[in-house]
Amino acid sequence: MQTIDTYNFQGKKALIRVDFNVPLNDKFEITDDTRMRAAIPTIRKVLAGGGAVILMSHLGRPKGVDSKYSLKHIQKHLEELLGQPVRFADDCIGESAKKQAAELKPGEVLLLENLRYYAEEEGKPRGLADDASDEEKKAAKAAVKESQKKFVADLASLGDVWINDAFGTAHRAHASTALIAKYFPNDKLFGYVMEGELKAVDSVMKDPKRPFTAIMGGSKVSSKIDIIMNLMDNLILGGGMTYTFKAALGGHVGSSICEADKLDLALDIMRIAKEKGVNLVLSDQAVIADGFSNDANTKLADPMNIPDGWEGLDIGPETRERFAKVIEESKTILWNGPVGVFEMPKFAEGTRAIAEAIVKATEKGAFSLIGGGDSVAAINQFGLADKVSYVSTGGGALLEYIEGKELPGITAIRGE
Ligand code: AMP
Repeated sequence: MQTIDTYNFQGKKALIRVDFNVPLNDKFEITDDTRMRAAIPTIRKVLAGGGAVILMSHLGRPKGVDSKYSLKHIQKHLEELLGQPVRFADDCIGESAKKQAAELKPGEVLLLENLRYYAEEEGKPRGLADDASDEEKKAAKAAVKESQKKFVADLASLGDVWINDAFGTAHRAHASTALIAKYFPNDKLFGYVMEGELKAVDSVMKDPKRPFTAIMGGSKVSSKIDIIMNLMDNLILGGGMTYTFKAALGGHVGSSICEADKLDLALDIMRIAKEKGVNLVLSDQAVIADGFSNDANTKLADPMNIPDGWEGLDIGPETRERFAKVIEESKTILWNGPVGVFEMPKFAEGTRAIAEAIVKATEKGAFSLIGGGDSVAAINQFGLADKVSYVSTGGGALLEYIEGKELPGITAIRGE
């Protein structure tokens, strides 16, 4: 298989799928450019090898052409990061993209407009009425799948070699992340971001040192938990999902976030953990608040017994200590999702304690892997990102890869 290090880019136009889905504030300023910086080595490698670069990405979730989601907003910053001008095509396919791609010279960079201006990128119909019949839905899906073929061909026609460097979308079989591969049977490669991600995950998953502990947080119960349990010795569950588990156990969770339709799933997860001998660690002390606000009144409570009008927004100090002890005794650690509403300082202490325990375990030789937008934002917020083993650009993609699922964006290159 060709790799980015063995491929000869001389005179070639490399069509690179990057993940420039960066957060922007209301003035369209980039608030975190991690994903852009991550892609720079791949771009530089092509340019240094005598090639030209055509970048394609999505940004946000536009429903069609919408300047709010234009990649034009990031052009200037990309120029700064690369230290050279970047051309811009205001459509990712069509005449202007074709013309600009054709005129591109070795050493030059062209950025294409948001792929998701087109429904064909994801291959999902748009604008269906809420009351559309099954027949109408089926017809709309078939129509977009049909027009997707031309979209993929048009995109592919812009370059000579396709590089997939977007790990965050590798679990999606979209036009630019997977379907395009068939046009480049001998000219498809992983970029350095993808190579790095796969190497990091493969190295842990092949023979993880034990105990292996996963910390899952976030607001909701994830359907991934029961699959991940095949791999773990300890599974720490925190965040909003705690209250679905407590409610399933007959607890009274006040106004805490609780998914009434997931009570059975929570019970299943607890049963499977027992059967598999996984040590399931749940919170038994919550920081509760009388409102979803940093100014709310707070106190500690048993998450099985939260008064009406109060909600659990973080783990309390005793639970922080219990969680930290399990983490610090682990040799392999996977963290996905904050254990509290860390965006508000009053409820960030639990998540901070997790991050600090992971750093301590890493210092003692554990391998720690952090994935998912919110845990990555948290570890950055605490200034601890360089003290863990690996920070992944993927959330869903990372979990699916760890589960052993085939990711379309990876299979498209490896051809397995
Ligand atoms: P998710 O959107 O499911 O990936 O979860 C991430 C979000 O979960 C973060 O924005 C946290 O603020 C939120 N979160 C964590 N713990 C809680 C909690 N106890 N109640 C409500 N939201 C929470």
